[in-house]
Amino acid sequence: MNAEELAEVLLERGAYDVGFPSSWTSIIQEIHNKLVELDPNYRTLQIKQKFGGLRFYFATENQEHAQEMFDFVEKMEALSYKICIDCGDFATRHSGYYSVCDKH
Ligand SMILES: [Zn+2]
Repeated sequence: MNAEELAEVLLERGAYDVGFPSSWTSIIQEIHNKLVELDPNYRTLQIKQKFGGLRFYFATENQEHAQEMFDFVEKMEALSYKICIDCGDFATRHSGYYSVCDKH
């Protein structure tokens, strides 16, 4: 899925706002895949960039897997700070709020 297709899938799950740099497509795809696997009915609320990091807000009524879902999202949100916001390569430094690689 490219960034646009992924954004559409996330919007269809109920989110009122979805916006992210395309460099995060793969980690957001990974989050979505994991959440669907744990709760096929999970709902998205908002996916955005804040202070240079990913914020993935969602809701689930699945008591059994909720903790695992929130833990996974938290892990991936932390990972978003380690990749270049421009190209998705490993980030080596910060430029303002943003994590960037040597080339950016
Ligand atoms: Zn880069």
